[in-house]
Amino acid sequence: MTTTEVPSDLAAFAGFLRERLAVLSGEFARPSDAADRAPGDDRIAAVEELREGHEEEIRWVRRFQAALYEAGIAWPSGPVVHGGLGLTPAHDAVLDDLLSELGFPSREALFVGLRIVAPALLHHAAPALRDEVLPALYRAQIVGCQLFSEPGAGSDLAGVTTRAVRDGDDWVVSGQKVWTSMAHLADVGEALVRTHPEASKHGGLTMLLIDMHAPGVTVRPIRQMTGGAAFNEVFLDEVRVPDARRIGGLGEGWRVAGTSLGSERSTMGGAAGPLTPYVMERVVGLVRRLGAEADAVHRPQIARAVAAVAAMRAVANLSPGSWSHRLEPVSGSVLKMLMSQAADEIARLAQDVLGEGAFVDLGEADAYAWSEFVLGVPALHIAGGTDEIQRNVIAQRGLGLPRVSAPRAT
Ligand SMILES: Cc1cc2nc3c(=O)[nH]c(=O)nc-3n(C[C@H](O)[C@H](O)[C@H](O)COP(=O)(O)OP(=O)(O)OC[C@H]3O[C@@H](n4cnc5c(N)ncnc54)[C@H](O)[C@@H]3O)c2cc1C
Repeated sequence: MTTTEVPSDLAAFAGFLRERLAVLSGEFARPSDAADRAPGDDRIAAVEELREGHEEEIRWVRRFQAALYEAGIAWPSGPVVHGGLGLTPAHDAVLDDLLSELGFPSREALFVGLRIVAPALLHHAAPALRDEVLPALYRAQIVGCQLFSEPGAGSDLAGVTTRAVRDGDDWVVSGQKVWTSMAHLADVGEALVRTHPEASKHGGLTMLLIDMHAPGVTVRPIRQMTGGAAFNEVFLDEVRVPDARRIGGLGEGWRVAGTSLGSERSTMGGAAGPLTPYVMERVVGLVRRLGAEADAVHRPQIARAVAAVAAMRAVANLSPGSWSHRLEPVSGSVLKMLMSQAADEIARLAQDVLGEGAFVDLGEADAYAWSEFVLGVPALHIAGGTDEIQRNVIAQRGLGLPRVSAPRAT
């Protein structure tokens, strides 16, 4: 396929994708009728919930991603040289929407590599590293994770203390990371490390791409209240990382982290985030099936949930240049806030209409299916930076408001 065959008009592009995806639907799409699915296959999660025995599911998602890559449609906005179509993020959104609408598997297990690590590589890495890693991520030959947070550095991310010391052509990295989603599946990790302790807090950081199978890397899962274990502690004990696997310049780690975080936040507020068209279809179906739309209490709730998601999607689909120049740089934070607020509305609605069926398997359709979503929504207010941090970013960097220090105890 040459890119000249690919229409750039969004509606025509959707038609083009539908044709390509039709070929894959037999092998990968889920049955549209919930009754056709295997028991337990109707669960809805806000955060990917990987459980014991999920290996087959992950292999399947990776096969699906590889099939998308072979079909030439895995990365609409990506450069042609790396297997993309050279189009725009709006074309990525069309693909994400269609995959959800047509019942293809969620690619959330690959989300960190594709939407957080890949943008950093694309915008900051040397050509050789880009050429090696980007196609491998996009055909799911390798999986990526994000080694940013530490026990003492979450909201205050620039406070990371993981040290990297130069030794010949290598860096020797020691420290601890935490909350690392998918680290147990990952082959590479985008690691924010301190290379210049004598420099300023933000200026002493550099970004390295760590081989997660290298000696000295230990991954320990963290169990969540939903029962899954999607994230981990990662211990780095004198891990050798060639300087050729540096992403961006020395001391430019903070800038590279900004690229990853901006993409992470925008993605969470788009069709590849937790509020997919499939989730909306399911919640509307649930309300209708239980006759809740006729209920005076539930009606305003339904309206609020649908309006919140519609607002999020409308903002996500703004074309470049539509944002005010002040808010454009913080658009990811705006989207993430809209997403977490909309997720609250949906979780509350599902919980209220299902009653005890939200958490107990009553043997009826939809009973228990929403428990992971309801229990997972609080995490959406934290992952990718907490709500408080997004508000600070929007206020200070977007609206130019002054930094407010915490009130002092009297
Ligand atoms: C589901 C999930 C997946 C995650 N995946 C990853 C991952 O893959 N890789 C990774 O590196 N990290 C990951 N994280 C970690 C996440 O980025 C951090 O949890 C987050 O940035 C908050 O940091 P913290 O947990 O250290 O909380 P803290 O920074 O200790 O914050 C505690 C509380 O204080 C508030 N607070 C702190 N500073 C301020 C301030 N200046 N103004 C106002 N309020 C403030 C916070 O809002 C919060 O309510 C994940 C988290 C979750 C929930």
